[in-house]
Amino acid sequence: DALVKLRSVYKTYQSERGNVLALENVNLDIRQGEFLSLLGPSGCGKSTLLRCLAGLERISSGEVWVRGNELAGPPEDLGIVFQRDMLLDWRTVLDNVLLPLEFLRRPTKGYVEPALKLLETFGLRRSADRYPWELSGGMRQRVAICRALLSDPALLLMDEPFGALDAITRDNLNIELQRIWTQTHKTILFITHSISEAILLSNRVAVMARDPGRIEEIVEVDLPWPRT
Ligand code: ADP
Ligand code: ADP
Repeated sequence: DALVKLRSVYKTYQSERGNVLALENVNLDIRQGEFLSLLGPSGCGKSTLLRCLAGLERISSGEVWVRGNELAGPPEDLGIVFQRDMLLDWRTVLDNVLLPLEFLRRPTKGYVEPALKLLETFGLRRSADRYPWELSGGMRQRVAICRALLSDPALLLMDEPFGALDAITRDNLNIELQRIWTQTHKTILFITHSISEAILLSNRVAVMARDPGRIEEIVEVDLPWPRT
């Protein structure tokens, strides 16, 4: 039972340098509830694949299916975390977490308590009224994760979310991410170019190669801890 299916997906960018084939014949199932890492060298098309899934980029040919429906625009039930946290420095932490609701023109009222609860689970409850520029990089990225989780999405897309953080902060956030996955059964697609990170976190690893970007193999990983 796949949540997302990609079939014969190609993506070509038109640029001044000519056409760039970023994805070549990508076929991939993202299973319901799994933690799938997308591993590969810089430029192999990982971000492109993620942006195509998020509806931020249009595929050139092929098919993307989400829950049995062909993808037509950004899927609703989706949270995204990028390497850059994309927080608005002039808004409080709480207002940053609530921001997606404003984009969707939905009332934020019923979401303040859930937002504060989420912040609490990331040790940020007392920072709710502070501003992002007052926080460390790790705290900022935790806020970005809270923002992605606020609507309780089934699918969480993460594009090297901790790549800009120092090693210790990254380890801590990886542990918190494992906790989220084991407790919530969310489906997670996680981009990394670290083999050890991919093996530590995920139950499957899709290994990509470049020129052109394609999936070389998919590896099952034995989880070191029991899945509840
Ligand atoms: P990553 O950190 O995943 O390697 P990059 O730094 O390569 O990402 O890309 C950052 C942004 O720049 C992306 O939004 C991508 O679309 C854009 N980008 C990357 N390569 C090119 C390119 N050759 N021409 C135009 N835009 C590009
Ligand atoms: P990765 O995330 O694995 O680093 P990307 O998906 O960012 O790889 O890029 C894959 C290829 O597509 C690279 O050759 C990159 O330069 C190119 N690319 C990415 N975004 C753009 C863009 N907006 N315009 C042109 N080329 C791009």
